[in-house]
Amino acid sequence: MMRVRFAPSPTGFLHVGNARTAVLNYLVKKKNNAAYILRIEDTDTQRSTMESEQSILSDLKWLGIQWDEGPDCGGKFGPYRQSERFDIYRQFTEKLLITGNAYHCYCTQEELDAMRAKAAEHNKPFVYPGTCRHLSLEQKLAYEHQGRKPTVRFRVNDGISIVVNDHIKGKVVFSSENIGGDFIIVRSDGIPVYNYIVIIDDTLMNITHVIRGEDHLPNTPKQMLIAMALDLPAPEYAHMPLLLGPDRTKLSKRHGITSVSIYREQGYLSQALFNYLALLGWTTRSGEEIVSIEELVEQFELSKIGKSPAIFDFQKLKWMNSEYLKNLPSEQVYSLFYPYLEKAGYTTHDTGWLNSVIDTIRGNCQIASDIVSEIAIFFGDTVEPDQEAGELLSQQESKAIIMTAYELVTSNEVNEHNYHQLLNAIKQKTGLKGKMLFMPFRAMITGRLHGPELDKIIPLLGYQRFKKRIENCYQRFIN
Ligand code: GLU
Repeated sequence: MMRVRFAPSPTGFLHVGNARTAVLNYLVKKKNNAAYILRIEDTDTQRSTMESEQSILSDLKWLGIQWDEGPDCGGKFGPYRQSERFDIYRQFTEKLLITGNAYHCYCTQEELDAMRAKAAEHNKPFVYPGTCRHLSLEQKLAYEHQGRKPTVRFRVNDGISIVVNDHIKGKVVFSSENIGGDFIIVRSDGIPVYNYIVIIDDTLMNITHVIRGEDHLPNTPKQMLIAMALDLPAPEYAHMPLLLGPDRTKLSKRHGITSVSIYREQGYLSQALFNYLALLGWTTRSGEEIVSIEELVEQFELSKIGKSPAIFDFQKLKWMNSEYLKNLPSEQVYSLFYPYLEKAGYTTHDTGWLNSVIDTIRGNCQIASDIVSEIAIFFGDTVEPDQEAGELLSQQESKAIIMTAYELVTSNEVNEHNYHQLLNAIKQKTGLKGKMLFMPFRAMITGRLHGPELDKIIPLLGYQRFKKRIENCYQRFIN
Protein backbone atom coordinates (compact mmCIF):
# COMPACT_ATOMS: atom_id res chain seq x y z
CA MET A 1 0.00 0.00 0.00
CA MET A 2 1.21 3.46 -0.84
CA ARG A 3 1.88 5.65 2.20
CA VAL A 4 2.70 9.35 2.13
CA ARG A 5 3.34 11.78 4.94
CA PHE A 6 3.40 15.40 5.89
CA ALA A 7 5.91 16.19 8.60
CA PRO A 8 5.66 19.75 9.87
CA SER A 9 7.83 21.21 12.60
CA PRO A 10 5.59 22.99 15.10
CA THR A 11 7.68 26.12 15.37
CA GLY A 12 5.19 28.66 14.07
CA PHE A 13 2.21 29.00 11.81
CA LEU A 14 1.60 26.79 8.80
CA HIS A 15 3.49 28.47 5.95
CA VAL A 16 1.93 28.41 2.49
CA GLY A 17 5.00 26.61 1.17
CA ASN A 18 4.47 23.79 3.64
CA ALA A 19 0.73 23.87 3.06
CA ARG A 20 1.46 23.27 -0.60
CA THR A 21 3.48 20.19 0.35
CA ALA A 22 0.56 19.03 2.48
CA VAL A 23 -1.88 19.64 -0.38
CA LEU A 24 0.18 17.81 -3.01
CA ASN A 25 0.62 14.86 -0.69
CA TYR A 26 -3.13 14.89 -0.28
CA LEU A 27 -3.70 14.79 -4.03
CA VAL A 28 -1.34 11.82 -4.21
CA LYS A 29 -3.20 10.13 -1.39
CA LYS A 30 -6.56 10.61 -3.09
CA LYS A 31 -5.30 9.57 -6.46
CA ASN A 32 -3.67 6.37 -5.26
CA ASN A 33 -5.83 5.52 -2.30
CA ALA A 34 -2.74 5.95 -0.18
CA ALA A 35 -2.53 6.37 3.57
CA TYR A 36 -1.70 9.88 4.74
CA ILE A 37 0.46 10.15 7.83
CA LEU A 38 0.84 13.33 9.81
CA ARG A 39 4.03 13.37 11.83
CA ILE A 40 5.04 16.20 14.11
CA GLU A 41 8.77 16.90 14.01
CA ASP A 42 9.18 18.59 17.34
CA THR A 43 12.71 17.78 18.40
CA ASP A 44 13.71 21.43 18.36
CA THR A 45 12.60 21.74 21.95
CA GLN A 46 13.46 25.44 22.11
CA ARG A 47 11.18 26.43 19.27
CA SER A 48 8.47 23.75 19.18
CA THR A 49 5.20 24.53 20.91
CA MET A 50 1.92 22.74 21.43
CA GLU A 51 0.16 25.92 20.36
CA SER A 52 1.88 25.81 17.01
CA GLU A 53 1.05 22.11 16.58
CA GLN A 54 -2.60 22.84 17.26
CA SER A 55 -2.74 25.73 14.87
CA ILE A 56 -1.08 23.65 12.14
CA LEU A 57 -3.58 20.82 12.63
CA SER A 58 -6.44 23.26 12.62
CA ASP A 59 -5.23 24.95 9.42
CA LEU A 60 -4.78 21.60 7.70
CA LYS A 61 -8.30 20.56 8.64
CA TRP A 62 -9.61 23.89 7.44
CA LEU A 63 -7.91 23.28 4.09
CA GLY A 64 -9.84 20.03 3.89
CA ILE A 65 -6.88 17.74 4.39
CA GLN A 66 -7.72 14.55 6.22
CA TRP A 67 -5.02 12.25 7.51
CA ASP A 68 -5.33 8.62 8.41
CA GLU A 69 -2.71 8.48 11.13
CA GLY A 70 -1.41 11.27 13.29
CA PRO A 71 -0.86 12.59 16.81
CA ASP A 72 -4.54 13.34 17.32
CA CYS A 73 -5.99 10.11 15.95
CA GLY A 74 -3.19 7.60 16.50
CA GLY A 75 -2.45 4.69 14.22
CA LYS A 76 -0.47 1.50 14.01
CA PHE A 77 2.90 3.17 13.65
CA GLY A 78 2.80 5.75 16.42
CA PRO A 79 3.64 7.69 18.37
CA TYR A 80 3.42 10.41 15.75
CA ARG A 81 5.34 13.08 17.60
CA GLN A 82 9.08 12.72 17.37
CA SER A 83 9.49 13.94 20.94
CA GLU A 84 7.67 10.79 22.03
CA ARG A 85 9.96 8.48 20.08
CA PHE A 86 13.30 9.11 21.74
CA ASP A 87 13.55 5.54 23.06
CA ILE A 88 13.22 4.24 19.54
CA TYR A 89 15.98 6.52 18.25
CA ARG A 90 18.23 5.55 21.15
CA GLN A 91 18.09 1.91 20.12
CA PHE A 92 19.17 2.79 16.60
CA THR A 93 21.99 4.96 17.91
CA GLU A 94 23.25 2.02 19.95
CA LYS A 95 23.16 -0.12 16.87
CA LEU A 96 25.10 2.41 14.81
CA LEU A 97 27.71 2.77 17.55
CA ILE A 98 28.13 -0.99 17.85
CA THR A 99 28.50 -1.51 14.12
CA GLY A 100 31.00 1.35 13.92
CA ASN A 101 28.79 3.42 11.64
CA ALA A 102 28.73 6.10 14.29
CA TYR A 103 31.11 7.26 16.99
CA HIS A 104 31.27 9.65 19.91
CA CYS A 105 32.81 12.97 19.09
CA TYR A 106 34.25 15.10 21.88
CA CYS A 107 35.14 18.17 19.85
CA THR A 108 33.83 21.24 21.61
CA GLN A 109 31.80 23.97 20.00
CA GLU A 110 34.82 26.28 20.20
CA GLU A 111 37.08 23.77 18.48
CA LEU A 112 34.54 23.23 15.74
CA ASP A 113 34.04 26.96 15.31
CA ALA A 114 37.77 27.39 14.93
CA MET A 115 37.86 24.68 12.23
CA ARG A 116 34.94 26.35 10.49
CA ALA A 117 36.64 29.75 10.59
CA LYS A 118 39.80 28.28 9.13
CA ALA A 119 37.87 26.69 6.27
CA ALA A 120 36.15 30.01 5.63
CA GLU A 121 39.53 31.77 5.57
CA HIS A 122 40.55 29.48 2.73
CA ASN A 123 37.20 29.88 1.05
CA LYS A 124 36.45 26.22 1.52
CA PRO A 125 33.27 24.60 2.77
CA PHE A 126 33.70 23.11 6.21
CA VAL A 127 34.21 19.37 6.26
CA TYR A 128 34.61 17.70 9.63
CA PRO A 129 38.08 16.13 9.46
CA GLY A 130 37.18 13.05 11.47
CA THR A 131 39.17 14.14 14.51
CA CYS A 132 37.37 11.76 16.89
CA ARG A 133 36.96 8.85 14.51
CA HIS A 134 39.58 6.69 16.12
CA LEU A 135 39.85 7.74 19.74
CA SER A 136 41.28 5.25 22.16
CA LEU A 137 39.47 4.37 25.32
CA GLU A 138 41.94 6.44 27.36
CA GLN A 139 41.39 9.49 25.21
CA LYS A 140 37.66 9.14 25.60
CA LEU A 141 37.95 8.75 29.35
CA ALA A 142 40.22 11.76 29.52
CA TYR A 143 37.67 13.86 27.67
CA GLU A 144 34.87 12.57 29.87
CA HIS A 145 37.00 13.45 32.85
CA GLN A 146 37.27 17.00 31.54
CA GLY A 147 33.48 17.10 31.59
CA ARG A 148 33.08 17.05 27.82
CA LYS A 149 29.73 15.72 26.64
CA PRO A 150 30.04 13.89 23.35
CA THR A 151 27.89 14.17 20.29
CA VAL A 152 27.29 11.12 18.12
CA ARG A 153 28.60 11.40 14.59
CA PHE A 154 27.69 9.31 11.62
CA ARG A 155 30.66 8.02 9.70
CA VAL A 156 30.57 8.95 6.04
CA ASN A 157 32.96 6.80 4.05
CA ASP A 158 34.46 8.15 0.87
CA GLY A 159 33.73 6.73 -2.51
CA ILE A 160 30.07 6.00 -2.17
CA SER A 161 27.74 7.36 -4.75
CA ILE A 162 24.22 7.92 -3.60
CA VAL A 163 21.57 7.94 -6.27
CA VAL A 164 18.22 9.58 -5.71
CA ASN A 165 15.74 8.59 -8.38
CA ASP A 166 13.55 11.55 -7.77
CA HIS A 167 10.03 11.53 -9.20
CA ILE A 168 10.30 15.21 -10.05
CA LYS A 169 14.00 15.98 -10.35
CA GLY A 170 14.93 12.78 -12.14
CA LYS A 171 18.17 10.99 -11.31
CA VAL A 172 20.30 12.99 -8.88
CA VAL A 173 23.68 11.57 -7.93
CA PHE A 174 25.59 12.62 -4.84
CA SER A 175 29.00 11.43 -3.89
CA SER A 176 29.74 10.84 -0.24
CA GLU A 177 32.86 13.03 -0.36
CA ASN A 178 30.72 16.06 -0.96
CA ILE A 179 28.22 15.98 1.83
CA GLY A 180 30.29 17.66 4.52
CA GLY A 181 32.02 14.72 6.18
CA ASP A 182 30.89 12.81 9.25
CA PHE A 183 27.79 14.51 10.54
CA ILE A 184 26.22 14.78 13.94
CA ILE A 185 23.17 12.60 14.52
CA VAL A 186 22.78 13.11 18.27
CA ARG A 187 23.65 16.38 19.93
CA SER A 188 25.61 16.56 23.17
CA ASP A 189 22.37 17.12 25.08
CA GLY A 190 21.12 13.75 23.82
CA ILE A 191 18.65 15.16 21.30
CA PRO A 192 18.81 13.43 17.92
CA VAL A 193 18.85 15.62 14.83
CA TYR A 194 16.39 15.88 11.97
CA ASN A 195 18.40 14.17 9.21
CA TYR A 196 18.87 11.13 11.37
CA ILE A 197 15.45 10.52 12.81
CA VAL A 198 13.48 11.52 9.75
CA ILE A 199 14.68 8.47 7.88
CA ILE A 200 14.14 6.20 10.86
CA ASP A 201 10.58 7.40 11.09
CA ASP A 202 9.97 7.28 7.36
CA THR A 203 11.04 3.66 7.30
CA LEU A 204 9.41 2.58 10.57
CA MET A 205 6.19 4.23 9.49
CA ASN A 206 6.41 2.39 6.17
CA ILE A 207 6.34 5.58 4.17
CA THR A 208 6.63 4.63 0.53
CA HIS A 209 6.86 8.13 -0.99
CA VAL A 210 8.43 11.18 0.58
CA ILE A 211 7.08 14.24 -1.20
CA ARG A 212 8.57 17.45 0.11
CA GLY A 213 10.26 20.71 -0.79
CA GLU A 214 13.44 20.87 -2.79
CA ASP A 215 15.23 22.47 0.14
CA HIS A 216 15.43 18.95 1.55
CA LEU A 217 17.12 17.45 -1.50
CA PRO A 218 20.66 18.07 -0.15
CA ASN A 219 19.60 16.25 3.05
CA THR A 220 18.49 13.18 1.17
CA PRO A 221 21.92 11.54 0.67
CA LYS A 222 22.55 11.76 4.41
CA GLN A 223 19.20 10.16 5.09
CA MET A 224 19.85 7.44 2.53
CA LEU A 225 23.28 6.68 3.99
CA ILE A 226 21.72 6.20 7.40
CA ALA A 227 19.10 3.89 5.92
CA MET A 228 21.86 1.84 4.29
CA ALA A 229 23.83 1.63 7.54
CA LEU A 230 20.74 0.46 9.40
CA ASP A 231 19.72 -1.86 6.64
CA LEU A 232 16.41 -0.10 6.28
CA PRO A 233 14.74 0.38 2.90
CA ALA A 234 14.71 4.06 1.90
CA PRO A 235 11.43 5.41 0.54
CA GLU A 236 11.02 6.89 -2.92
CA TYR A 237 11.45 10.64 -3.16
CA ALA A 238 9.84 13.54 -4.94
CA HIS A 239 11.28 16.99 -4.31
CA MET A 240 9.13 19.89 -5.38
CA PRO A 241 10.73 23.02 -6.75
CA LEU A 242 10.66 25.90 -4.33
CA LEU A 243 8.04 28.57 -4.08
CA LEU A 244 9.36 32.01 -4.89
CA GLY A 245 7.95 35.48 -4.46
CA PRO A 246 7.02 37.58 -7.50
CA ASP A 247 10.60 38.96 -7.59
CA ARG A 248 11.93 35.39 -7.79
CA THR A 249 13.55 35.42 -4.38
CA LYS A 250 12.62 32.97 -1.64
CA LEU A 251 9.01 33.52 -0.67
CA SER A 252 8.85 35.48 2.56
CA LYS A 253 6.66 37.81 4.57
CA ARG A 254 8.20 40.71 2.68
CA HIS A 255 6.22 39.61 -0.37
CA GLY A 256 2.86 39.30 1.34
CA ILE A 257 0.91 36.95 3.54
CA THR A 258 2.62 33.59 3.97
CA SER A 259 0.64 32.07 6.86
CA VAL A 260 -2.39 29.97 6.12
CA SER A 261 -3.97 31.22 9.34
CA ILE A 262 -3.85 34.82 8.14
CA TYR A 263 -5.49 33.92 4.83
CA ARG A 264 -8.10 32.22 6.92
CA GLU A 265 -8.56 35.25 9.15
CA GLN A 266 -8.93 37.52 6.16
CA GLY A 267 -11.75 35.42 4.88
CA TYR A 268 -10.17 33.49 2.05
CA LEU A 269 -12.15 30.38 1.22
CA SER A 270 -10.37 27.16 1.97
CA GLN A 271 -11.37 25.68 -1.40
CA ALA A 272 -9.76 28.62 -3.18
CA LEU A 273 -6.50 28.38 -1.27
CA PHE A 274 -6.45 24.62 -1.77
CA ASN A 275 -7.07 25.04 -5.49
CA TYR A 276 -4.38 27.70 -5.76
CA LEU A 277 -1.74 25.73 -3.86
CA ALA A 278 -2.60 22.51 -5.66
CA LEU A 279 -1.97 24.08 -9.06
CA LEU A 280 1.41 25.65 -8.35
CA GLY A 281 4.02 24.29 -10.71
CA TRP A 282 1.79 22.42 -13.18
CA THR A 283 -1.27 23.05 -15.31
CA THR A 284 -4.40 21.14 -16.14
CA ARG A 285 -4.93 19.68 -19.60
CA SER A 286 -7.32 22.42 -20.61
CA GLY A 287 -5.39 25.14 -18.81
CA GLU A 288 -8.41 25.71 -16.62
CA GLU A 289 -7.56 27.16 -13.24
CA ILE A 290 -10.70 26.91 -11.19
CA VAL A 291 -10.71 23.20 -10.66
CA SER A 292 -12.60 21.02 -8.20
CA ILE A 293 -10.63 18.78 -5.92
CA GLU A 294 -11.99 15.72 -7.73
CA GLU A 295 -10.72 17.09 -11.00
CA LEU A 296 -7.35 18.00 -9.48
CA VAL A 297 -7.02 14.47 -8.17
CA GLU A 298 -7.96 13.06 -11.53
CA GLN A 299 -5.43 15.11 -13.46
CA PHE A 300 -2.53 15.31 -11.05
CA GLU A 301 0.69 13.33 -11.49
CA LEU A 302 3.93 14.04 -9.65
CA SER A 303 5.71 13.89 -12.96
CA LYS A 304 3.66 16.85 -14.20
CA ILE A 305 5.35 19.17 -11.74
CA GLY A 306 7.88 21.30 -13.54
CA LYS A 307 11.50 21.47 -12.52
CA SER A 308 11.64 25.22 -12.22
CA PRO A 309 10.45 27.15 -9.18
CA ALA A 310 6.81 28.15 -8.86
CA ILE A 311 5.98 31.79 -8.33
CA PHE A 312 3.47 32.65 -5.65
CA ASP A 313 1.15 35.19 -7.24
CA PHE A 314 -0.81 36.94 -4.50
CA GLN A 315 -3.12 38.71 -6.95
CA LYS A 316 -3.99 35.51 -8.67
CA LEU A 317 -4.87 33.84 -5.40
CA LYS A 318 -7.14 36.76 -4.62
CA TRP A 319 -8.75 36.52 -8.02
CA MET A 320 -9.27 32.80 -7.56
CA ASN A 321 -10.89 33.47 -4.23
CA SER A 322 -13.25 35.99 -5.81
CA GLU A 323 -14.26 33.40 -8.37
CA TYR A 324 -15.12 30.93 -5.62
CA LEU A 325 -16.95 33.65 -3.73
CA LYS A 326 -19.05 34.48 -6.77
CA ASN A 327 -20.33 30.93 -6.94
CA LEU A 328 -21.21 30.64 -3.29
CA PRO A 329 -24.95 30.47 -2.46
CA SER A 330 -26.30 33.57 -0.68
CA GLU A 331 -26.83 31.89 2.67
CA GLN A 332 -23.20 30.83 2.79
CA VAL A 333 -22.05 34.29 1.84
CA TYR A 334 -24.10 35.80 4.67
CA SER A 335 -22.67 33.50 7.27
CA LEU A 336 -19.20 34.04 5.89
CA PHE A 337 -19.54 37.84 6.06
CA TYR A 338 -21.44 38.30 9.33
CA PRO A 339 -18.49 37.76 11.69
CA TYR A 340 -16.49 40.45 9.85
CA LEU A 341 -19.40 42.86 10.06
CA GLU A 342 -19.97 42.18 13.73
CA LYS A 343 -16.33 42.69 14.51
CA ALA A 344 -16.34 46.02 12.68
CA GLY A 345 -19.52 47.13 14.44
CA TYR A 346 -21.79 46.99 11.39
CA THR A 347 -24.74 45.33 13.08
CA THR A 348 -28.50 45.69 12.75
CA HIS A 349 -31.62 43.80 13.76
CA ASP A 350 -32.91 44.12 10.24
CA THR A 351 -31.35 40.96 8.80
CA GLY A 352 -33.48 41.19 5.66
CA TRP A 353 -32.03 44.62 4.91
CA LEU A 354 -28.51 43.50 5.73
CA ASN A 355 -28.79 40.53 3.42
CA SER A 356 -30.07 42.75 0.60
CA VAL A 357 -27.10 45.05 1.11
CA ILE A 358 -24.76 42.07 1.01
CA ASP A 359 -26.44 40.82 -2.18
CA THR A 360 -25.77 44.23 -3.73
CA ILE A 361 -22.10 44.44 -2.87
CA ARG A 362 -20.85 40.87 -2.61
CA GLY A 363 -19.62 41.07 -6.19
CA ASN A 364 -17.19 43.82 -5.18
CA CYS A 365 -15.59 41.64 -2.52
CA GLN A 366 -12.62 39.52 -3.51
CA ILE A 367 -12.21 38.17 -0.01
CA ALA A 368 -14.67 38.08 2.88
CA SER A 369 -13.01 40.83 4.89
CA ASP A 370 -13.52 43.23 1.95
CA ILE A 371 -17.15 43.41 3.04
CA VAL A 372 -16.17 45.77 5.85
CA SER A 373 -15.01 48.58 3.60
CA GLU A 374 -17.69 47.87 0.99
CA ILE A 375 -20.56 48.07 3.43
CA ALA A 376 -19.47 51.29 5.10
CA ILE A 377 -21.47 53.45 2.66
CA PHE A 378 -24.73 51.86 3.82
CA PHE A 379 -24.30 52.69 7.49
CA GLY A 380 -24.63 56.04 9.21
CA ASP A 381 -26.77 59.13 8.63
CA THR A 382 -23.74 61.01 7.49
CA VAL A 383 -20.78 59.83 5.52
CA GLU A 384 -17.20 60.89 5.81
CA PRO A 385 -16.09 61.52 2.22
CA ASP A 386 -12.82 59.86 1.34
CA GLN A 387 -10.10 62.08 -0.06
CA GLU A 388 -11.06 62.04 -3.72
CA ALA A 389 -14.77 62.41 -2.96
CA GLY A 390 -13.97 65.32 -0.65
CA GLU A 391 -11.91 67.02 -3.32
CA LEU A 392 -14.61 66.65 -5.91
CA LEU A 393 -17.30 67.98 -3.60
CA SER A 394 -15.17 71.03 -2.82
CA GLN A 395 -14.95 71.99 -6.48
CA GLN A 396 -17.01 74.83 -7.83
CA GLU A 397 -18.71 72.54 -10.37
CA SER A 398 -20.19 70.40 -7.65
CA LYS A 399 -21.84 73.28 -5.83
CA ALA A 400 -24.85 73.49 -8.13
CA ILE A 401 -25.56 69.84 -7.60
CA ILE A 402 -25.28 69.97 -3.82
CA MET A 403 -27.39 73.13 -3.64
CA THR A 404 -30.10 71.84 -5.93
CA ALA A 405 -30.26 68.52 -4.09
CA TYR A 406 -30.53 70.37 -0.80
CA GLU A 407 -33.24 72.66 -2.00
CA LEU A 408 -35.25 69.79 -3.40
CA VAL A 409 -35.06 67.55 -0.36
CA THR A 410 -35.83 70.35 2.04
CA SER A 411 -38.79 71.51 -0.02
CA ASN A 412 -41.88 69.43 -0.40
CA GLU A 413 -41.03 68.54 -3.94
CA VAL A 414 -39.04 65.48 -2.92
CA ASN A 415 -40.38 62.98 -0.43
CA GLU A 416 -40.10 59.32 0.43
CA HIS A 417 -42.15 58.33 -2.58
CA ASN A 418 -40.15 60.04 -5.26
CA TYR A 419 -36.67 60.54 -3.83
CA HIS A 420 -35.33 57.94 -6.25
CA GLN A 421 -35.98 60.49 -8.95
CA LEU A 422 -33.83 63.18 -7.40
CA LEU A 423 -30.96 62.70 -9.78
CA ASN A 424 -33.28 63.29 -12.71
CA ALA A 425 -34.71 66.36 -11.10
CA ILE A 426 -31.22 67.78 -10.57
CA LYS A 427 -30.37 67.01 -14.16
CA GLN A 428 -33.34 68.99 -15.36
CA LYS A 429 -32.76 71.92 -13.04
CA THR A 430 -29.03 72.26 -13.60
CA GLY A 431 -28.71 71.02 -17.15
CA LEU A 432 -25.70 68.95 -16.04
CA LYS A 433 -25.33 65.41 -17.22
CA GLY A 434 -22.99 62.43 -17.50
CA LYS A 435 -20.00 62.22 -15.19
CA MET A 436 -20.31 65.87 -14.23
CA LEU A 437 -23.63 64.97 -12.66
CA PHE A 438 -23.14 61.42 -11.46
CA MET A 439 -19.83 61.72 -9.73
CA PRO A 440 -20.61 64.59 -7.36
CA PHE A 441 -24.01 63.07 -6.70
CA ARG A 442 -22.48 59.73 -5.81
CA ALA A 443 -19.86 61.47 -3.68
CA MET A 444 -22.57 63.36 -1.83
CA ILE A 445 -24.64 60.24 -1.11
CA THR A 446 -21.90 57.68 -0.44
CA GLY A 447 -18.74 59.65 0.29
CA ARG A 448 -16.94 57.77 -2.48
CA LEU A 449 -16.50 58.02 -6.21
CA HIS A 450 -16.91 54.34 -6.91
CA GLY A 451 -19.28 51.64 -5.80
CA PRO A 452 -22.38 49.73 -6.77
CA GLU A 453 -25.00 51.32 -8.99
CA LEU A 454 -26.75 54.27 -7.38
CA ASP A 455 -30.11 52.82 -8.35
CA LYS A 456 -29.34 49.91 -6.08
CA ILE A 457 -27.84 51.92 -3.25
CA ILE A 458 -30.52 54.57 -2.89
CA PRO A 459 -33.50 52.31 -2.11
CA LEU A 460 -31.40 50.46 0.46
CA LEU A 461 -30.43 53.71 2.17
CA GLY A 462 -34.03 54.79 2.66
CA TYR A 463 -35.36 58.32 2.45
CA GLN A 464 -34.38 59.57 5.90
CA ARG A 465 -30.74 58.59 5.61
CA PHE A 466 -30.60 59.85 2.05
CA LYS A 467 -31.98 63.22 3.07
CA LYS A 468 -29.68 63.58 6.06
CA ARG A 469 -26.65 62.87 3.94
CA ILE A 470 -27.61 65.60 1.51
CA GLU A 471 -28.24 68.07 4.31
CA ASN A 472 -24.95 67.22 5.90
CA CYS A 473 -23.11 67.60 2.62
CA TYR A 474 -24.70 70.97 2.12
CA GLN A 475 -23.65 72.14 5.55
CA ARG A 476 -20.18 70.91 5.05
CA PHE A 477 -19.43 72.15 1.55
CA ILE A 478 -21.75 75.07 0.96
CA ASN A 479 -22.54 76.70 4.24
N1 GLU B 1 10.05 18.86 9.45
C1 GLU B 1 10.56 19.18 8.18
C2 GLU B 1 10.18 20.58 7.78
O1 GLU B 1 9.21 21.10 8.32
C3 GLU B 1 10.02 18.27 7.10
C4 GLU B 1 11.05 17.37 6.65
C5 GLU B 1 10.67 16.39 5.61
O2 GLU B 1 9.62 16.52 4.98
O3 GLU B 1 11.44 15.48 5.47
O4 GLU B 1 10.83 21.17 6.95
